Amino acid sequence: MSDCLFCKICEGKIPAAITYRDEEVVAFKDIGPKAPFHQLVIPIRHIASLVETKPEDAALLGKLMLVASKLAAEAGFAASGFRVVANAGPDAGQSVPHVHLHALAGRSLGWPPG
Ligand code: 5GP
Ligand code: ZN
Repeated sequence: MSDCLFCKICEGKIPAAITYRDEEVVAFKDIGPKAPFHQLVIPIRHIASLVETKPEDAALLGKLMLVASKLAAEAGFAASGFRVVANAGPDAGQSVPHVHLHALAGRSLGWPPG
Protein backbone atom coordinates (compact mmCIF):
# COMPACT_ATOMS: atom_id res chain seq x y z
CA MET A 1 0.00 0.00 0.00
CA SER A 2 1.63 3.22 -1.17
CA ASP A 3 1.00 5.42 1.87
CA CYS A 4 1.79 2.77 4.53
CA LEU A 5 4.92 3.34 6.63
CA PHE A 6 5.71 -0.35 7.06
CA CYS A 7 5.10 -1.12 3.38
CA LYS A 8 7.63 1.62 2.61
CA ILE A 9 10.13 -0.01 4.98
CA CYS A 10 9.62 -3.34 3.18
CA GLU A 11 10.21 -1.61 -0.15
CA GLY A 12 13.35 0.15 1.10
CA LYS A 13 11.79 3.59 0.63
CA ILE A 14 12.19 4.38 4.33
CA PRO A 15 15.37 3.20 6.07
CA ALA A 16 15.19 0.71 8.93
CA ALA A 17 17.59 -1.59 10.73
CA ILE A 18 16.44 -4.80 9.03
CA THR A 19 17.30 -7.95 10.98
CA TYR A 20 15.47 -10.58 8.93
CA ARG A 21 13.92 -10.87 5.50
CA ASP A 22 12.44 -13.66 3.43
CA GLU A 23 9.84 -13.75 0.68
CA GLU A 24 6.96 -13.16 3.10
CA VAL A 25 8.32 -11.56 6.27
CA VAL A 26 10.53 -8.65 7.29
CA ALA A 27 11.84 -7.82 10.78
CA PHE A 28 13.51 -4.63 11.92
CA LYS A 29 14.46 -2.76 15.06
CA ASP A 30 11.75 -0.56 16.54
CA ILE A 31 12.66 3.12 16.20
CA GLY A 32 11.43 3.82 19.74
CA PRO A 33 12.49 0.76 21.70
CA LYS A 34 10.41 -0.03 24.80
CA ALA A 35 12.98 -2.57 26.02
CA PRO A 36 16.69 -3.18 25.38
CA PHE A 37 15.63 -5.64 22.66
CA HIS A 38 12.64 -4.46 20.63
CA GLN A 39 12.05 -5.65 17.09
CA LEU A 40 8.99 -5.63 14.86
CA VAL A 41 8.09 -8.60 12.67
CA ILE A 42 5.71 -7.90 9.80
CA PRO A 43 4.23 -9.56 6.74
CA ILE A 44 5.42 -7.98 3.47
CA ARG A 45 1.83 -8.13 2.21
CA HIS A 46 -0.17 -5.23 3.58
CA ILE A 47 -2.75 -6.32 6.15
CA ALA A 48 -4.04 -3.38 8.18
CA SER A 49 -4.92 -5.20 11.40
CA LEU A 50 -5.28 -8.63 12.94
CA VAL A 51 -9.01 -7.98 12.58
CA GLU A 52 -8.58 -8.29 8.81
CA THR A 53 -6.72 -11.59 8.85
CA LYS A 54 -8.42 -14.63 7.33
CA PRO A 55 -8.13 -18.39 7.82
CA GLU A 56 -5.81 -18.55 4.81
CA ASP A 57 -3.41 -16.23 6.67
CA ALA A 58 -2.86 -18.79 9.45
CA ALA A 59 0.50 -20.01 8.12
CA LEU A 60 1.74 -16.46 7.62
CA LEU A 61 0.71 -15.46 11.14
CA GLY A 62 2.44 -18.54 12.51
CA LYS A 63 5.57 -17.64 10.59
CA LEU A 64 5.59 -14.16 12.15
CA MET A 65 5.57 -15.81 15.58
CA LEU A 66 8.35 -18.23 14.63
CA VAL A 67 10.55 -15.43 13.28
CA ALA A 68 9.94 -13.27 16.38
CA SER A 69 10.86 -16.16 18.68
CA LYS A 70 13.95 -17.05 16.65
CA LEU A 71 15.23 -13.46 16.64
CA ALA A 72 14.77 -13.11 20.41
CA ALA A 73 16.43 -16.47 21.06
CA GLU A 74 19.33 -15.71 18.71
CA ALA A 75 19.83 -12.39 20.52
CA GLY A 76 20.40 -14.37 23.71
CA PHE A 77 17.01 -14.22 25.40
CA ALA A 78 15.94 -17.87 25.19
CA ALA A 79 16.61 -18.49 28.88
CA SER A 80 15.90 -15.08 30.40
CA GLY A 81 12.70 -14.73 28.42
CA PHE A 82 10.98 -12.43 25.96
CA ARG A 83 7.50 -11.28 25.02
CA VAL A 84 5.78 -11.29 21.64
CA VAL A 85 2.70 -9.08 21.38
CA ALA A 86 0.45 -7.52 18.75
CA ASN A 87 -1.67 -4.45 19.27
CA ALA A 88 -4.97 -4.34 17.39
CA GLY A 89 -7.12 -1.24 17.37
CA PRO A 90 -7.30 1.93 19.44
CA ASP A 91 -7.67 0.47 22.93
CA ALA A 92 -4.53 -1.60 22.40
CA GLY A 93 -2.67 1.44 21.08
CA GLN A 94 -2.07 0.24 17.54
CA SER A 95 -0.45 3.23 15.85
CA VAL A 96 0.67 1.74 12.54
CA PRO A 97 -2.08 0.11 10.46
CA HIS A 98 0.04 -2.76 9.11
CA VAL A 99 0.06 -6.01 11.10
CA HIS A 100 3.17 -6.33 13.25
CA LEU A 101 4.40 -8.39 16.15
CA HIS A 102 6.52 -6.71 18.79
CA ALA A 103 9.33 -8.88 20.17
CA LEU A 104 10.57 -7.43 23.47
CA ALA A 105 13.30 -8.56 25.85
CA GLY A 106 16.20 -7.49 28.00
CA ARG A 107 14.35 -6.38 31.10
CA SER A 108 11.63 -7.67 33.37
CA LEU A 109 8.37 -7.08 31.52
CA GLY A 110 5.40 -6.18 33.67
CA TRP A 111 2.17 -8.14 33.57
CA PRO A 112 -0.61 -7.30 33.00
CA PRO A 113 0.47 -4.78 30.39
CA GLY A 114 -0.72 -1.20 30.76
P1 5GP B 1 1.99 -0.11 17.51
O1 5GP B 1 1.90 1.10 18.39
O2 5GP B 1 1.21 0.09 16.23
O3 5GP B 1 1.68 -1.40 18.19
O4 5GP B 1 3.51 -0.24 17.13
C1 5GP B 1 4.12 0.56 16.17
C2 5GP B 1 5.59 0.59 16.47
O5 5GP B 1 6.24 1.10 15.33
C3 5GP B 1 5.97 1.49 17.64
O6 5GP B 1 6.61 0.71 18.65
C4 5GP B 1 6.90 2.54 17.02
O7 5GP B 1 8.00 2.86 17.85
C5 5GP B 1 7.35 1.84 15.73
N1 5GP B 1 7.64 2.75 14.64
C6 5GP B 1 6.89 3.82 14.25
N2 5GP B 1 7.46 4.42 13.19
C7 5GP B 1 8.59 3.72 12.92
C8 5GP B 1 9.61 3.89 11.92
O8 5GP B 1 9.60 4.77 11.07
N3 5GP B 1 10.63 2.97 11.94
C9 5GP B 1 10.68 1.97 12.87
N4 5GP B 1 11.74 1.14 12.80
N5 5GP B 1 9.74 1.79 13.81
C10 5GP B 1 8.71 2.66 13.84
ZN1 ZN C 1 1.45 -1.70 4.81
